[in-house]
Amino acid sequence: MDYSFTPEQIIFQETIRRFAADKLAPYYQQRELDGTIDSKLCEEMGALGMIAPELPEKFGGLGLDSITAGIAVEEVAKADFNVSYIQLIGSLMGSLISQHATDEVAHRVVDGICAGKIIVALGLTEPGGGSDAAHLTLRATKKGDDYILNGEKTSISLANQADEIVVFARTGEVDGAGGISAFLVPINATGVSTTCFDDLGSSAVGRGSVFFDDVLVSMDAMIGPENQGFRVVMQGFDYSRALIGLQCVACAESSISEAWEYVKEREAFGGPIARFQGVTEPLAEAETLLYAAKLLCYKTLWLRDQGEPHTSEAAMCKWWAPRVAFDAIHSALLVHGHYGYSRELPHQQRLRDVLGLQIGDGTQQIQKMIISREKIGRVAVPY
Ligand SMILES: Cc1cc2nc3c(=O)[nH]c(=O)nc-3n(C[C@H](O)[C@H](O)[C@H](O)COP(=O)(O)OP(=O)(O)OC[C@H]3O[C@@H](n4cnc5c(N)ncnc54)[C@H](O)[C@@H]3O)c2cc1C
Repeated sequence: MDYSFTPEQIIFQETIRRFAADKLAPYYQQRELDGTIDSKLCEEMGALGMIAPELPEKFGGLGLDSITAGIAVEEVAKADFNVSYIQLIGSLMGSLISQHATDEVAHRVVDGICAGKIIVALGLTEPGGGSDAAHLTLRATKKGDDYILNGEKTSISLANQADEIVVFARTGEVDGAGGISAFLVPINATGVSTTCFDDLGSSAVGRGSVFFDDVLVSMDAMIGPENQGFRVVMQGFDYSRALIGLQCVACAESSISEAWEYVKEREAFGGPIARFQGVTEPLAEAETLLYAAKLLCYKTLWLRDQGEPHTSEAAMCKWWAPRVAFDAIHSALLVHGHYGYSRELPHQQRLRDVLGLQIGDGTQQIQKMIISREKIGRVAVPY
């Protein structure tokens, strides 16, 4: 068992850490007010290989491992949780498209993702439900060699900043996972429109609905085999869930390390508040849980790199790490007393931002159902 990063991974980590300290951390709160992530910043990240470095070199990636992608997400999320969405969605959609699109589409789009020039959103959730995604209703109707899309996707991250969206649509007559296909659709295609939600957090990312009104897509836009789109995206979630875990843990680590500094300086009852066990105990507990959650995430990425199954571990990362992160930031905020409650400090924003990922990419109930299914089989799922 070897827990160390390679020398190349450490150099990569240091490069990103410097970039993040310089270009990301100072503007984390400003980006929330702006409600957007600067496209030039994405291109700078792309030029440094910070977006989906694990994707194959022939599609514009660096051909590195998933652990290195995790390091990149971690370093960025420590500085700005929301900017790391670009990496998360880049890795998820880039791997989906590079494996399942035509070569021509994969070259054009994945190259753009890795370069920070193209954002591809994930369009799975519908107004009727997200947990039971296999029963989605957006319809793709065959018209000659093409398809016509009609319906709504909702709760889509980056809906207003994305260039394209992978839409999951019902193409078959079967009412379940079997009749779903995936299509890559430009957001500016005729008949596509978007709205933006007023969210509690992550407003720099933005979440919204995407409407499809008689949108014409060609067969080339299909990602993966017809009626197999659902299976394809579910495999991708095993990866994104470990990255989400690291994203949340890293964000919380920033609050906890700021809290350690604060308790050494802040005085009460004639000395630093760090003398009181009641102050340090929640921070020590958060350190422990964040450490354990981080190990779980890296172990999951390591399993992926070995080509080993990791569905259960990925679901563990997804339900546990965002919750541990939320609790840790909550503790850090409280240790800062009334200052922690102010918008001047970043803890309240981090708390609101990580909360979203207790829901996004599947709630904890759904993750626990997956773990149970992996353990005892389909008796543990509703159908
Ligand atoms: C920040 C954020 C980002 C997101 N980004 C995207 C995105 O980019 N693309 C996208 O497609 N979607 C996205 N989503 C949507 C997200 O995936 C869904 O919200 C999520 O899957 C839950 O679906 P729902 O909101 O419809 O809740 P529902 O499915 O209506 O569930 C409501 C509640 O019931 C519980 N529940 C449902 N079924 C069961 C069950 N069988 N057992 C126990 N409990 C159950 C759920 O856990 C939940 O607490 C995002 C959501 C958020 C908050």
